[in-house]
Amino acid sequence: MIRINENYLKLQTSYLFSNIAKKVSTYQSAHPEREIIRLGIGDVTRALPGACIEAFQHAIAEMARDQTFRGYGPEQGYDFLRQKIARHDFQEHGAQVTAEEIFVSDGAKCDTGNIQEIFATDVRVAIPDPVYPVYLDTNVMAGRTGAYENGRYQGVTYLACTEKNNYIPRLPTAPVDLIYLCFPNNPTGATITKPQLKNWVDYARANKALILFDAAYEAFIRDAELPRSIYEIEGAREVAIEFRSFSKTAGFTGTRCAYTVVPKACLAYTASGDPIEVHQLWNRRHTTKFNSVSYPVQRAAEAVYSPEGRAQVKALTEYYMLNADYIRKAVQKLGFDCVGGENSPYIWIKSERDSWEFFDLLLNKAAVVCTPGAGFGRCGQGYLRISAFNSFDNVEKAMDRIQDALA
Ligand code: PLP
Repeated sequence: MIRINENYLKLQTSYLFSNIAKKVSTYQSAHPEREIIRLGIGDVTRALPGACIEAFQHAIAEMARDQTFRGYGPEQGYDFLRQKIARHDFQEHGAQVTAEEIFVSDGAKCDTGNIQEIFATDVRVAIPDPVYPVYLDTNVMAGRTGAYENGRYQGVTYLACTEKNNYIPRLPTAPVDLIYLCFPNNPTGATITKPQLKNWVDYARANKALILFDAAYEAFIRDAELPRSIYEIEGAREVAIEFRSFSKTAGFTGTRCAYTVVPKACLAYTASGDPIEVHQLWNRRHTTKFNSVSYPVQRAAEAVYSPEGRAQVKALTEYYMLNADYIRKAVQKLGFDCVGGENSPYIWIKSERDSWEFFDLLLNKAAVVCTPGAGFGRCGQGYLRISAFNSFDNVEKAMDRIQDALA
């Protein structure tokens, strides 16, 4: 008899965004004439930068000729891309990362979801609340949690990110081994300072724990004092893995390219306490299960680091940040407290009522789609996330409509 992985039965019925999609589709069927503005799922709306398109097209032309055609590439990614990433994303910012420590992939979603499989099933996991759902669900699937009760899985240490702690989780009081952090944060838009991040690095070093640092929104940081990488913090190379993505940085959500940094100094332990290089484990996993990203996509990603590419990417993120600024100010004008939107494309609004109720109100009265905070965890109840990924026109229109809906 073929049996299933029963951990899947513990998962909550529907992924947050499928639930939203269902509600939106029901609304659209009932109001086919109404133009819906989507500020919900964090998907970019603007075209790829010209430098990326040019490199993409050039690489496709190479694939069209036997002499320049490429088949399987190195599983970890082409050296031309890994070298540029190491230099421009890390070394130029004072973080010691080498090209060898970079694993190119087709998404930070897959990487943040897959990474847990190289650690023991009984490691104690700490996950922020609210959270990007992938971290939690993949640990549920792997059997690291108990049942779901009162909005939480048993066996998980939840790191509450609330108004009280300025949406920066406090160090856990009970010991944990695997810690998920995401800054700039999805969904709250909060950022972490260097001293705050150092507390976490020090904790991990003192407790032989490991931090999974998701920096998918690094490109939206405007404040020069904020850390762009966890490796700007002393000692982080021993205790942290970092995830980055071209998705939001350069509009690659449909093109697919990201990378994970696993420093050679990063250690995890056998049951008897012997240290093992995590790099070696992830390399084994990656080369066994993944055949890297297509050559044209890696060339397109490489173009992000050319002088033109850098200027274009900056303009792209600036565009979304103008939206974020507009949303933040409009929401505050309406009398809501909010966080985010200054160094991140998300604005986290204290809605002062049930999240789904507020979501329904905005959908039905304003035809604007946001994301209910409760979908990201228990601490998200009473909040709503607005994403800045849309055209400025739509953002303006959406905020006008929300104002009318609440009048
Ligand atoms: N990490 C966070 C925090 C995200 O919000 C997202 C996408 O929304 C991802 C990772 C996934 O990025 P990718 O498109 O590279 O899979």
